[in-house]
Amino acid sequence: DIIYLNGDWITSEDAKVSVFDRGFLFADGVYEVIPVYQRRPFLLELHIQRLQRSAEAIGITFIEANYWYQLVDELIDRNNYDNGLVYIQLTFGADSQRSHLPTQPLSPTIYASMSSLHVHWDTPIPVKVAVLEDIRWQRCDIKSISLLGNIMLKREAAKLGAFEPLLHRHGRITEGASCNYFMVKNGHLYTPPADHLILAGITRTWVIQLAKSLAIEVHEEPMNVNELQHVDEVFLTSSSREVQPVGQIDDIIVGNGQCGAITAQIAEAFHASKRHLIQE
Ligand code: PLP
Repeated sequence: DIIYLNGDWITSEDAKVSVFDRGFLFADGVYEVIPVYQRRPFLLELHIQRLQRSAEAIGITFIEANYWYQLVDELIDRNNYDNGLVYIQLTFGADSQRSHLPTQPLSPTIYASMSSLHVHWDTPIPVKVAVLEDIRWQRCDIKSISLLGNIMLKREAAKLGAFEPLLHRHGRITEGASCNYFMVKNGHLYTPPADHLILAGITRTWVIQLAKSLAIEVHEEPMNVNELQHVDEVFLTSSSREVQPVGQIDDIIVGNGQCGAITAQIAEAFHASKRHLIQE
């Protein structure tokens, strides 16, 4: 595999980053993950806009969208994945010592690589999720490389035999450790609003658009965990999982435990949009 590091195209073995990099010391950085289908990036503009928003939020100097588009194109060209995930990481940069505030003007450390992706063409088998208290910080809208909270929650969910946690703050549903949630009730689609408590997923944005085009009413509004007992369908979304049905929440079986009709309809529309990209 060929990776990108600060202007160089090298193997991962040859890639070296300073121990004084603020990403390494303080997790002072942001990242992005972009799915690639048949060598074409999916919803690239939305991912680059989010990367720019995240970078701006932590004070990294603005980098032109064209720089990112060229970087992604070249990364796909230089690697052999037909279907993959592009990973981009951007940290505040490497200093000459460990200091909470940078001691001098720094230029960002930019790293990008590619890995393989299993593309779904059929709706996957429903998974179990575990309701857990969201212990993360209050700026989950930034796609920060500081993922300690997410990882601790993911481990706790795994211990409970769950695929993902379903997080809440004082009863209010937020998201998963690395995905967003959707519920279906009486034919309507519900998802928590894109505020500072969640990462506004690109898959989430796309699913909302697809649902609207299918004439499904979408409500972006706060939901309580108690309401989960009365929903007909639940699914989660992310760039790598696409549309993933949820069949069980703790001990509660959702619907009849199978993929619901509206989830299947949205998943099918999602597959169609991938086919459209590939055939363009
Ligand atoms: N929420 C969190 C915390 C995430 O880490 C992710 C992606 O990894 C998502 C939501 C889903 O975002 P996207 O659909 O852009 O992959």
